[in-house]
Amino acid sequence: MKEFGFELRVCRWAERHWPPGGDSEADGDRVAIVARQPPFGDGRLDADLLPVARHAPGSWAYYRDALPQPDYPWRYVREAVHRAADRGFVETRKRANRVELRRRYRYPDWVDRVVAIENKPDLDAAAARALSGQLEHDVALGLADEVWLATAATAADVEPALLEAIPVEVGILAVAQRPDGWRADTVWNPRTLDPAGPGTRILERPAGGEADASAARFEYADPAWKRGKRLEIGERAYERGWRSYAETMRTDCRHFRLRDPAGPFPWCGAKDDEQTAAECTGGCPSFEPEPPAWRRRAWPIEGGPGKATDRLLARKRRRRR
Ligand code: SF4
Repeated sequence: MKEFGFELRVCRWAERHWPPGGDSEADGDRVAIVARQPPFGDGRLDADLLPVARHAPGSWAYYRDALPQPDYPWRYVREAVHRAADRGFVETRKRANRVELRRRYRYPDWVDRVVAIENKPDLDAAAARALSGQLEHDVALGLADEVWLATAATAADVEPALLEAIPVEVGILAVAQRPDGWRADTVWNPRTLDPAGPGTRILERPAGGEADASAARFEYADPAWKRGKRLEIGERAYERGWRSYAETMRTDCRHFRLRDPAGPFPWCGAKDDEQTAAECTGGCPSFEPEPPAWRRRAWPIEGGPGKATDRLLARKRRRRR
């Protein structure tokens, strides 16, 4: 299976069953929001809006007095304050030529745990070597509470992932298709990291050969930065979820289908296979727009089947929130 389809299935499994081995339905106050690494988009509170949401005061104050010193010019903060007012969670007014703000809603401290899962269905020795640097980086930074590696289960007595040079702090999930659906079993438990403490950014690491005596370079990541970053990750996950793949794929292509209601997952009629997001773009040689006849009735208000696909996935995403 392609890595893209594997990743979607791990997302689907996590949405229903996280935490592994636990009872995901038991704690009604906690909800696992699953997202693939998404590009930034509209709707969530982005990196500029988040400080405004978190620090806007309850009573009127000059925005430069109320908000934390940015590491970029204040004028961008002022723009963010106006955007926040347009979004309706702060109010603004002008006094003595100064922009003042006060909050309308308190920003909730809603991100409880951040769990990072790297997906690598075919984990041979070369793939493990390539991935271990990324995983060591994730562990050292400690932005997530837990880091996992999801890989395809094998018939071996000992899952090969356990024999590879994966950092011991990383949990390992063996994912397999069973008659009752996709299942992931824990073959190695992760160590809980320290997202509230300082982290280490690994900037450069020596290749480690005999001729390489260079030192690794590190940088300190402070807890306040990590706190803000975790909220950004949470906001992005909340807004987009993992079904946002449809936003970059050509759902308006006549060959685009959705299969398997458990996802649903994308399918390409022309390839007679699951396509990846990278394949399903305007540059795809087999792309053909939906015939206008498909769109006749409600088009252009509701669009053709492609638009219906977008609506279905958006509806599923909203339902999971
Ligand atoms: S033919 Fe290309 S553009 Fe159309 S659904 Fe298949 S992969 Fe996507």
